[in-house]
Amino acid sequence: TMEYGPAPEDDGPAQAWLDRHGRRFGVFIGGTFQAPGKTFATRNPARGTELAQVTQGTEADIEAAVTAARRAQPAWARLGGQGWARVLYAIARLLQKHSRLFAVLETLDNGKPIRESRDIDIPLAQRHFYYHAGMAALMEDELPDRVPVGVCGQIVPWNFPLLMLAWKIAPALAMGNTVVLKPAEWTPLTALLFAEICGEAGVPPGVVNIVTGDGATGAALVSHPGVDKIAFTGSTDVGREIRRATAGTGKALTLELGGKSPYVVFEDADLDSAVEGLVDAIWFNQGQVCCAGSRLLVQEGIAEAFYAKLRARMATLRIGDPLDKCIDVGAMVDPAHCAKVAEMVAGSNGEVHQPGTVPAEGAFYPPTLITGLEPADPLMRDEIFGPVLVATTFRTPAEAVEVANATRYGLAATLWSENINRALDIAPKLAAGVVWVNATNLFDAAAGFGGVRESGFGREGGWEGLRAYTKQAAPPKALVPVAAIPAPAAPKP
Ligand code: NAD
Repeated sequence: TMEYGPAPEDDGPAQAWLDRHGRRFGVFIGGTFQAPGKTFATRNPARGTELAQVTQGTEADIEAAVTAARRAQPAWARLGGQGWARVLYAIARLLQKHSRLFAVLETLDNGKPIRESRDIDIPLAQRHFYYHAGMAALMEDELPDRVPVGVCGQIVPWNFPLLMLAWKIAPALAMGNTVVLKPAEWTPLTALLFAEICGEAGVPPGVVNIVTGDGATGAALVSHPGVDKIAFTGSTDVGREIRRATAGTGKALTLELGGKSPYVVFEDADLDSAVEGLVDAIWFNQGQVCCAGSRLLVQEGIAEAFYAKLRARMATLRIGDPLDKCIDVGAMVDPAHCAKVAEMVAGSNGEVHQPGTVPAEGAFYPPTLITGLEPADPLMRDEIFGPVLVATTFRTPAEAVEVANATRYGLAATLWSENINRALDIAPKLAAGVVWVNATNLFDAAAGFGGVRESGFGREGGWEGLRAYTKQAAPPKALVPVAAIPAPAAPKP
């Protein structure tokens, strides 16, 4: 029997927007869309249909975009904090005004449930612009010795296309920089819609440039000598390549990379809340979340009871058309990524639990729990980047810390315990950029986010994120040169 009927969101306005562009997009440079070059398709992974053709940005496109950004930067910098704030507030308001269009377009391109794009991705992106508009206005007073870095090359992944764009563009503009951003090849559409609203928001031509394309386009941006800073979010392997490519160039660099974050449940935890937290930790966005709580560590005494509750909850997750407002689990970003996840799970040595049924068509993969794996098993160590939770048990808090830290990553960690002293004792012992206690996936524009170890370095958000888009100002001319300072008198005996 059907307990609920499908409640599909209307995708008419998003389809009409694509039609208005003839479903062919050029790159966005100097405030205008260029004529499309060689293009590739971006698809709806839930239906397999082509949404639009998008330009594969060339080295010449990168050259033109960096030149436009370089030309626009001095005037943008001179505008000052109040001027940047006015533009950032205008962007935030337009993101709000068009939030339904952005949410539907994001879901069409990425496959994530409309409930998530509508309630999480797009509102958080707006908040990021509001927050940084406010900070831009304070910058001259609060960071008087800092100046813009210059031209920033920014490369983002496909899991939160507009939100990752906001994390990159908002702080850069708020500190007087201009940008060239490359969206991920599977999800370029909301970045192109964003480009369109930049004009309406009063962003001067050349301040924001969007160059679509694949890894080669990203590599051209990284190696362009006219770029002062690279900000990258994506896989650890590509992060490593970028670090190599920028070594010795004097370019500033921040890397936000992968993770295999532990989710630790102590025997005194509120188990029902911990199960709900886990649903958010690993099945939010089909597990395609850098800080996903993808490694479950349960204290031995409660393990069986906890797994039972978890299995029961998994059976109630609704998988299906991401445009359906009742859906919990949507499509994976692309059939290729879906196949990669399926292959990793197929090779598992553990006990695989997959209660859900997925639609026959489309890039769907069911929520998965794997138990009984050895700590050294690749599935316990490698990032799967899908809706796959691996689980193990521990006996003592000390062992929990040891197992939690037995990873090359260090992005996030979650602790679940009703004993706050225990939580406060364990949290600082974990190698992670953020530790959540009795909660998970909490993001705030005012809090720095980022990793340690192979999860990268640098922070996005908060003061740390802002500082990363500035550099030390040249010392004021009135300073006396060191050589002119008289040597101190010899101490009296
Ligand atoms: P990816 O590294 O394959 O691609 C990310 C971006 O880099 C894309 O735009 C891609 O076109 C571009 N790129 C690829 N090769 C490049 C090269 N040689 N030079 C420059 N750019 C290049 O990652 P993905 O598969 O799109 O995203 C998933 C990964 O991102 C996961 O590992 C995930 O953990 C990570 N991630 C991290 C965070 C974070 O904040 N730490 C956030 C989201 C995603």
